[in-house]
Amino acid sequence: MDPIFSYLSTQERAIAALLRQFVECESPSDDPAAVNRFVELVSDTAAPMARVKTHAGGKFGKHLLCEVQLPGRKKTGQVLALGHSDTVWPIGTLRTMPFREADGRLWGPGVFDMKAGIAFFLFAARALRELAIPAPSKVLLQLNSDEEVGSESSRPLTERHARASRAVLVLEPSTGLEGKLKTARKGVGDFTVTVRGKASHAGVDFAAGASAILELARQLERIAGFTNLKRGITVNPGVIAGGTRSNVVAAEARAEVDIRILKLKDAAGLEKKFRGLRPIDRRCAIEVTGGLNRPPMERSPGIVKLFRTAQKLAREIGVEVEESLTGGGSDGNFTAALGVPTLDGLGGVGEGAHAANESILTSRMVDRTALIAKLLAAV
Ligand SMILES: [Zn+2]
Repeated sequence: MDPIFSYLSTQERAIAALLRQFVECESPSDDPAAVNRFVELVSDTAAPMARVKTHAGGKFGKHLLCEVQLPGRKKTGQVLALGHSDTVWPIGTLRTMPFREADGRLWGPGVFDMKAGIAFFLFAARALRELAIPAPSKVLLQLNSDEEVGSESSRPLTERHARASRAVLVLEPSTGLEGKLKTARKGVGDFTVTVRGKASHAGVDFAAGASAILELARQLERIAGFTNLKRGITVNPGVIAGGTRSNVVAAEARAEVDIRILKLKDAAGLEKKFRGLRPIDRRCAIEVTGGLNRPPMERSPGIVKLFRTAQKLAREIGVEVEESLTGGGSDGNFTAALGVPTLDGLGGVGEGAHAANESILTSRMVDRTALIAKLLAAV
């Protein structure tokens, strides 16, 4: 039997226990004190086997960096293991969604996205140390505190460490209950379209008004037309707001529009379409702000090669892994866009990210952890 897999099989309960501690330490993005408590918990766990540093995260919690001390004297290059410490769940979620183990799964806020990935990585590193299996590269773990809210503060740090790395392993959740890895992610952005019209009394002075709501509604038909499913472009007006009272012709209305693209070369064209929106009622004015936030992670030859390596290593422990494309972004989008081979979705196998059924399969904890360890020993 594979020695790494065999060692980690004895650690299944310990992995679950660490994950319980992680889940029970709630860490919503908008609560820096809570995120810092979680960062401290991870630091304490990593401390016996890593040089630990933190970076100020501005209005968010601290970003964590662990330079992991793995066996093997001659290290050439660096591998970046990337994840995030924040979750989408507010403090107190545990009251209604407590950590629990049932039906072959671990449940709780953040268990899948992405505290499992962090716990797996720490046990993967521990396995290599216990078994004295050398890792050819220096290994750096980076956990960002603001991934769920756009990674504005951590992005420069992520890009700096990715540029210095030969590969990036992203510990985010995998796809589907089969645990597919992610070799491509769509790029993500948002636009805010604000229409300013002219207010008037809907009864007394109707004709003097120019309805911002009506104008926005017409514009939304155009905007929805920017979607091109064949090219992997989606445009979703997810929020609209406007007007003050039903008897007032609305002076202002606004839409928040989510965009997803598969290819970076589609970004400029889409942006141009948004900026090119012109009012149908000339008494209205349109203002467009926003743009692309995360570039797409395009399935490059480097990514495919890294995936093939993972596939081969997984076969050594009797697991067949497949690859997937997802519409959701991660910090892997930034590293892949720099041309650094990036393999994403190495974390938990489960479902329900950002949802009440968030959970991971207990039976897939050991093989996932072993795959991470084997990658660290190979890349
Ligand atoms: Zn995540």
